[in-house]
Amino acid sequence: MTSFRVGSASDVGQLRTNNQDSKLIADAVSVFAVADGMGGHQGGEVASAIAVETLEAVISEPTTASVVEAVKEANRRIFSRAEDTTELRGMGTTLVAIALVNQDGADEEIAWVNVGDSRVYLLRDGELHQLSRDHSLVEDLRRGGQLSEEEAAIHPQRNILTRALGIDQEVEVDSDSLLPLTGDRFLLCSDGLFNEVDPTTLVDTLTSGEDPDAVAHELVRLANAGGGRDNITCVVVDVTDDGGGATRAAATGASTAGGATAVAGATDATVVDQSLVDAAEPAP
Ligand code: MN
Repeated sequence: MTSFRVGSASDVGQLRTNNQDSKLIADAVSVFAVADGMGGHQGGEVASAIAVETLEAVISEPTTASVVEAVKEANRRIFSRAEDTTELRGMGTTLVAIALVNQDGADEEIAWVNVGDSRVYLLRDGELHQLSRDHSLVEDLRRGGQLSEEEAAIHPQRNILTRALGIDQEVEVDSDSLLPLTGDRFLLCSDGLFNEVDPTTLVDTLTSGEDPDAVAHELVRLANAGGGRDNITCVVVDVTDDGGGATRAAATGASTAGGATAVAGATDATVVDQSLVDAAEPAP
């Protein structure tokens, strides 16, 4: 049985007056999430809260498909709430989540889902992989070769999203799953973290800290020290025991879903974002 140790931190930051991020730590069902709400008045807070509450409430079975369906249900609930309430009109939210799944009775896997520009990272063997792909204008330009990584990181329009929950009646959800390994560390975060903390510092902090709660708080502290121009939320999920499933899969030659094992041999701690991102096409 796969087991986890989880820590988290969330902060309003240095400039905002309210925190529109929400997080979910549902240990009983092993579902963890971060949502970054947007929209005037209380809209952002309401949207991100509905997102994580719906996720916890409606995942009916431990499969990737069920998690994706829960995200779609969250989208519908936010959309109709915004339609019904004048002061909430136009609200939306990002959502990233990971969940322990067990599809068709096979080995336990970690499923991840993403809509928007919050992120799921995996630290494995000292290498940080960005599993999710941002749904943002700047990310589209970067992937199209019109912006470099460095230009994208500081682009003034990097807050423009191409996908979010609550904007349309239906939403496309990116998802994938991979076999967990003991020692894996997942990071779910809002853009208030990675817009303020450079990739090297991010890797160093995730690598050096033992306690996931202390690491989450340190990341928030660093984001505030870097400017804290947005709300900051981090959920750190350590795999303390993979239940032996990954070992069995390796022994039988089964490949790790999502290609996450293809990172062996690296010695430098770096952010590697293409090898896994490319495996995560949007759901049909
Ligand atoms: Mn944000």
